[in-house]
Formats: sequence, structure tokens, C-alpha cells
Amino acid sequence: MSVKPSARTIKILIFITIFIGLAGYSFNKVSTNAEETHKQGKDREYSNVGVESFVSDGKQERYAVHYPVFHMKEIDEPLKKYVSKELNRFKEENKSARARQINGPFELNIQYKIAYYSKQAAAVVLNEYIEAGGAPGKTVVKTFNADLKHKKLLALDDLFDKNSDFLYKISNLSYEQLKRKNPAADDELLREGTSPLAKNFSRFVLLEDEIQFYFEKEKTGLEQSVNIKKDELKDILKDQYKSMKKSKTQEKPKHKAAVPIPKEKIRVGPDDKVIALTFDDGPNPASTNKILDALKTYDGRGTFFVLGSRAQYYPETIKRMLREGNEVGNHSWDHPLLTRLSKEKAYKEINDTQNIVEKISGHRPTHLRPPYGGINDSIRGLTNLKIALWDVDPEDWKFKNKARIVNHVMSHAGDGKIILMHDIYATSASAAEEIIKRLTKQGYKLVTVTQLEDIQKQRGH
Ligand SMILES: [Zn+2]
Repeated sequence: MSVKPSARTIKILIFITIFIGLAGYSFNKVSTNAEETHKQGKDREYSNVGVESFVSDGKQERYAVHYPVFHMKEIDEPLKKYVSKELNRFKEENKSARARQINGPFELNIQYKIAYYSKQAAAVVLNEYIEAGGAPGKTVVKTFNADLKHKKLLALDDLFDKNSDFLYKISNLSYEQLKRKNPAADDELLREGTSPLAKNFSRFVLLEDEIQFYFEKEKTGLEQSVNIKKDELKDILKDQYKSMKKSKTQEKPKHKAAVPIPKEKIRVGPDDKVIALTFDDGPNPASTNKILDALKTYDGRGTFFVLGSRAQYYPETIKRMLREGNEVGNHSWDHPLLTRLSKEKAYKEINDTQNIVEKISGHRPTHLRPPYGGINDSIRGLTNLKIALWDVDPEDWKFKNKARIVNHVMSHAGDGKIILMHDIYATSASAAEEIIKRLTKQGYKLVTVTQLEDIQKQRGH
């Protein structure tokens, strides 16, 4: 996704971008069967909160499901029940789809965000992306709120005084906010989707000084959330939910120095042509491993600009990249345009990815490829990573056509060039196999971005 993402990538991006706080990654393996791994770990931000994970990276179906555990059955049980139901339904749908000769992709991803957490209460948002049974992918948001002090799960009407007209009030405020933000929205749909019915406001999180409601595209025409200040509801909100403590926040991350990758370099003579193949947005084991196999076969190296949000699920692939002499670079946590984020958020995108790669492999990347190539001085000022852009872009995310990708790269290949591709697509992996073979035959040495820079320095560029 380098320049203009396709509709599907936009959908996935929106999905991925929703997640800010993600599941922890210090896991203990509990069990492994043929394809599924079950792990228990700790949340990254809240050390009192556990994380339960079920991950399968099978050829037929892939899923990664994570949900928090608060060690209080009133909230843990409903969360677990919901997630198990979703996972079982996904598996059932795939089974019946395969019986109908539909061959995927079958992918389920459930991640969580702890929107609020204190001694008093907890609020969790589950973000689900599902692509099953041959149907197009869709995203689903589900929320859970618990009053931890009184040990109970909270429904919306638990927050308000009995006999209050809270639904009318919330309905009005939500409609106004959505309308203001989207003046061109379909008014009829919007009115219907925000009409004062309990089912329209069942997805909410109770925060420190506001309540956030999530709306679905099918109902309101808009996939957005609305934040209503508690002040606006103070006449009807129960006292115990009016003033809540600040959510426990995370410690400030420390700036750590970059650790270079082990240099098991390709031997390059002074007259050799060199080229750097780079692969963004992964890892995605099925296609990434194909590329790694080809690099190994032809004794080449590549650079993989990975997303932290994907790296956390596929540590083995990250380790393999490095073990075989490839370079792992930083492509942010979940692929936002960094120049549009606040400094804090952009820093977190970069730093969390540094941390997860280090956690997995012991190495901290030395290069950042900003998503969409979007970079400015403010982002440069946040990091001491080198910025790695590219020279040749076959737009493989757009043209899922092997021959076209191969032709573009081969006709633009040249000494010292950096090629941009994406290792998450099957067509890109097949094209990369062919490109690696052809470039090697033409006498190119396939080197990492770091080695290319070193060579250019030596050559006095
Ligand atoms: Zn990208």
C-alpha cells in the first residue's frame, strides 16, 4: 500500500487503524494442537489484566483472537463466551464453505482495546474483522462495560436514573453530532439509526468524563462513533458514574538505541550490480515464506518493512527473516499516515514496532519506511531511524497480476535501485519468485537496504 490503496485495502486499513491499544505480547504457551496455539499473557498497558489468545496460521483458515481477562467472572465470562461463539461460528462457516468448494480466504481477527480501566470500572472494545464462507470481509465492533466495584456487567440503562428519558436525550445528541460531522449523510437513514431505541445504543463505552457510542454503517449509513460529555447528561446520569477516576495510563516509553541486524552480508565485487528488494505491510506467513524461500534459493537478501500489529502474531516469520540474513525494517504499528497523527501517536506507532521486533528477535530495526511514503520534518525529528523510500513501484497492491508486476520491475531494474513490493499478496509472492530468479540471472546481487547504503557510501555516492 504505497500510494493509493484499493477499496479492500482501505477497508482493512480502517479496520486496523481502529486499534490503538493492542493485546499484550508477553505470552506463555498453554497448548498447541495441529494448527491452533493457545496462549495466556499480560496486557501491554495494564499489568493486572491478562490476555487470552487463540491463533491459527493454517493454510485453510487463519485466525488471531485476543481478549482481556480482568480476573472477575462477571466480566470475564461474557467476554469469553462472546469470543468463543464468534470463533466457533467462523470455523463452522468455513467448514460448510469448503464443502461447497469455496476456498477462502478465511480470516478472523479479534483484537481488543481497553478504553477505560480503574478500580471502579472497565470498558472494552472488541474489533472484529471476518472474512468467511466466501463472503466479503466485514468489521464488527462489540463493547463490554463492567462496574468492577459492584462486580457487574453494565447495560446502558444501568447508567441512568430510573424512569429518565435517557434514550431520547442520547438519540438527539447523537443525531446532532453525526449530522454536524457529515452534513451530506442520508438524513432518513441517520434519523432511523439514531432513533431512541435501546438497540441503537447498545455499543458504548463508559469513559472518565464522557460516554462513547459506536454506530454501524448498515443502520445509520455511517461507521462512526460519537462522544457525549457526561456534563450533558448530568441530570439523568447516576451519581457513581458521573465522576470517575482517570484511567490508569501507560508509562512513557524510553528511547532505545537502534541495534543493527547481524551482518551476514552478500559478497559484492566492485563491478557487481546491486539491487534492494523491499517488501512492505507483512508479515503474512503464507506469502512471505514463499519470498523467503526464493531469496534463500538464489542466495539473495531482502528487506521486510513490517507492521508491528502483524509482527506480534507471526514471530516465527520475523525470526526467519533475520536468521537468513534479511533485514527487518519498521513500517509503523498499523499503517496510518504518520504525518496526520499527533507527535505522541506517531512516536508510539514507530516505537511500539521497534519494541515488538526487538522483543521477538533481539534486534531493533535501523530503518523506517513511513506508510504511503508520507514523511515530514516533524516525523523525522521523532526518530533516529533512517528513512527508506524506494525507486521502483510496480503497484503490486493494485494490479494483482504476476506478469504485469514482473515486467514493471524488470524493465525499471537498475544498479543501486530500491524496489517496492508487498509480501502480503499471493500474486506479489509469485512475482517476487520470478523477479529474484531473473535478476540473479542478469548478474544482480540482491542486497538489503543497509548493505546497499554501505556499498553506495564506499562507491562515493
Ligand atoms: Zn505499506
